[in-house]
Amino acid sequence: MFTAVRVLRVVALTVPLMLCAAAAAPVPVLAPVRPLPDMSVGAGHLPAALVPLAAPVAAAGGGRLPAAPVGAAAFPLPGPHSAGLDARRVARSAALARVPAWRAQAGDAASLLVVVNKQRPLDPVTYAPADLRPADGVLLRTEAADAFERLSAAAEAAGAPVEARSGFRSYADQVRTHRRWVRTLGSASAEAQSARPGFSEHQTGLAVDVLPRGGACQDFGCFGATPQAAWLAKNAGRFGFVVRYQAGQQAVTGYTDEPWHLRYVGVRAAADVAASGARSLEEHIGLPAAPTY
Ligand SMILES: [Zn+2]
Repeated sequence: MFTAVRVLRVVALTVPLMLCAAAAAPVPVLAPVRPLPDMSVGAGHLPAALVPLAAPVAAAGGGRLPAAPVGAAAFPLPGPHSAGLDARRVARSAALARVPAWRAQAGDAASLLVVVNKQRPLDPVTYAPADLRPADGVLLRTEAADAFERLSAAAEAAGAPVEARSGFRSYADQVRTHRRWVRTLGSASAEAQSARPGFSEHQTGLAVDVLPRGGACQDFGCFGATPQAAWLAKNAGRFGFVVRYQAGQQAVTGYTDEPWHLRYVGVRAAADVAASGARSLEEHIGLPAAPTY
């Protein structure tokens, strides 16, 4: 989640927030159904993240959602002013229909749909993927590596080149990292900044931290203001990634805003998250909030 540089830069700001989050109780169970977002958007303004829903996604890999139970063809043809609205309703309905299937796979460490947070350790906690391969200097599971290379090429073509800074981190890596921060910061602060071994998304081989390739910003502290961050927020879903830790979601995800941390879930699932309007995986599939261990 955090590198050494990041921790040093943000610890003073984030520790008070984490302590507030830690005090919150009881932990609410999030409803997977949220109101539709702003409906004033007209036809032709369908978010880019929804476009992949129009095409079938080839089945492969460790976690797959079933096809939409109801297709657009089952509905009457909409009028010209309601086409965009109806498309969004259909996409959202199909996304929510796949939530139970996702939830059923969320505890499987080897699934592309696994959900790890401070309440949901990997099982087993020493899990390591069997299909890691190098991609841009880090290790990722094969399907995530393929997707990241496509994302990286598109980002470069768009004038927002990125490079991977951290991918898979093993249980042993995280033991060392966590111990180092406990020694440096003390237990309470370390818990707020560094995932315990077995609780890190990086251990799934499906998470990658990025920074701009070149340019003035070479640090996570400035990344949020870069064109790369804006490009990823808009386009990562087209390649099957979600920006996992969004602003204002610390009480749910357990982490502050991390616009550089991308989590691969697959194109269909990423489109479903966008279609539902959820701001976290926990919210999308209705898992309890996980502000602390
Ligand atoms: Zn990360």
